[in-house]
Amino acid sequence: MSCWTRRRWLQTAALLSLTSTAPWVRATNAKPHIVIVGGGWGGLGAVRALAESGQVALTLIESNPAFLSCPLSISYLIGEVPLSKIRKSYHRLERLGVRHLQIPLLHVARDLRALLLADGRAITYDYLILSPGITYDWSPYPTLAQRLHDYPVAFRPFEHTALKARWQAFLAAGGGLFLITIPKPPYRCPPAPYERAAMFAAAIKRRGIKGKVVVLDANPNPLPPPIAKPILDTFAQRYAGLIEYYPNQEKLTIDPDRRTVESPAGQLTYAAANIIPPMIASDLIRAAGLGNRYAEVQLPSFRSVADERIYIVGDAAGTPLPKSGHVAFGAGQQAAYHLLAEITGKPKHYAPGEAVQLPAGICWAKMGDHTAIGIHVTANMVVGEAPKLQFQVDSTPTLESYRAAWQWATQQWNAMLG
Ligand SMILES: Cc1cc2nc3c(=O)[nH]c(=O)nc-3n(C[C@H](O)[C@H](O)[C@H](O)COP(=O)(O)OP(=O)(O)OC[C@H]3O[C@@H](n4cnc5c(N)ncnc54)[C@H](O)[C@@H]3O)c2cc1C
Repeated sequence: MSCWTRRRWLQTAALLSLTSTAPWVRATNAKPHIVIVGGGWGGLGAVRALAESGQVALTLIESNPAFLSCPLSISYLIGEVPLSKIRKSYHRLERLGVRHLQIPLLHVARDLRALLLADGRAITYDYLILSPGITYDWSPYPTLAQRLHDYPVAFRPFEHTALKARWQAFLAAGGGLFLITIPKPPYRCPPAPYERAAMFAAAIKRRGIKGKVVVLDANPNPLPPPIAKPILDTFAQRYAGLIEYYPNQEKLTIDPDRRTVESPAGQLTYAAANIIPPMIASDLIRAAGLGNRYAEVQLPSFRSVADERIYIVGDAAGTPLPKSGHVAFGAGQQAAYHLLAEITGKPKHYAPGEAVQLPAGICWAKMGDHTAIGIHVTANMVVGEAPKLQFQVDSTPTLESYRAAWQWATQQWNAMLG
């Protein structure tokens, strides 16, 4: 939206708020109106906690018609499960009294406590919970920015079908070199690119085609650090000759037409690629003045540093916590409870020196047909100090973690939308 349009909208919105109800979406009862933006992991954590309280009127702004899980999406990419297995309906929300507006949000007008939707309507809020997730920073690869169709990243919901089509075309063409690039953190789900490399290599092996996966990692070792060894051991032992892993490959020059990449490791020509660029919070965060790369929030409440009426949870929030769905869901709940305390006149204040728990994280990296590495993270902090994280990881991929991953996902999806 141009500045002119935004200015004009704000003027119109200010006028309309005084004179008319026509294009405004308003809450229908006297309860405080909470708007949640983003029906992913973080947004749904907040929605469920708030809906169960019965204390507020809730509107969810989510542009997609359904929820699609990035966790476990590898099983869809490699053809192990259909898309329907990781896609969940929002119908449950209606029964909880949550109004779902399936329209993109264009702009947050903090001074008006109002939101501009892509269909031209405006909606006011008493409190706002933002969980719009991440966007890609294409500045290192400007030639790819307009080529998302050819270079799907599939680190956001609903992009997986495009990557799967590319991957299947690669297999159908008889293989070759499949390139995966990995950015510096903080990015969404650090183990996910290594999981993709392993499972694409497994598929090449299973099909018996001539091909390999080349991983150009901007980092010195696989992330997060506690799983570097099991990942590198799996690459070297199970996928010897099928995965070439190059660390410290930050400066890449990619020619998307010739399908070449120049890196410190040399020049390569690839048949297909999954270029994973650096990640930043959704543009909404910067446009609303809530942070730069990621939103600035106070912990443990996840309340915006810039605006008392706004909470930011999920991967858009700039915290030392892992960018994971489990953390996002827990952060959504934590923000909701903080907000409910505020609304009911019992605001929660955290005293300097007080010990508090932060949302925990659970991630899975599938490493073979029936094995995975489980990564469990607990986090706590003393108010005024930096959070402390403790990792517990599998030292090798196990069948138990493969099974636990599906149990975990089923439970989480059920907590969100069951
Ligand atoms: C391959 C892969 C594997 C993963 N595995 C795990 C795992 O094992 N465990 C784990 O815990 N996490 C995992 N994750 C991470 C997890 O998916 C993310 O951390 C989680 O999705 C973050 O939740 P979120 O609410 O911040 O964002 P999202 O879940 O992406 O939700 C954001 C939502 O906001 C909506 N939205 C954005 N902008 C607008 C707008 N302007 N208007 C309307 N709607 C908007 C989007 O449509 C989207 O639905 C994985 C991620 C990937 C990519």
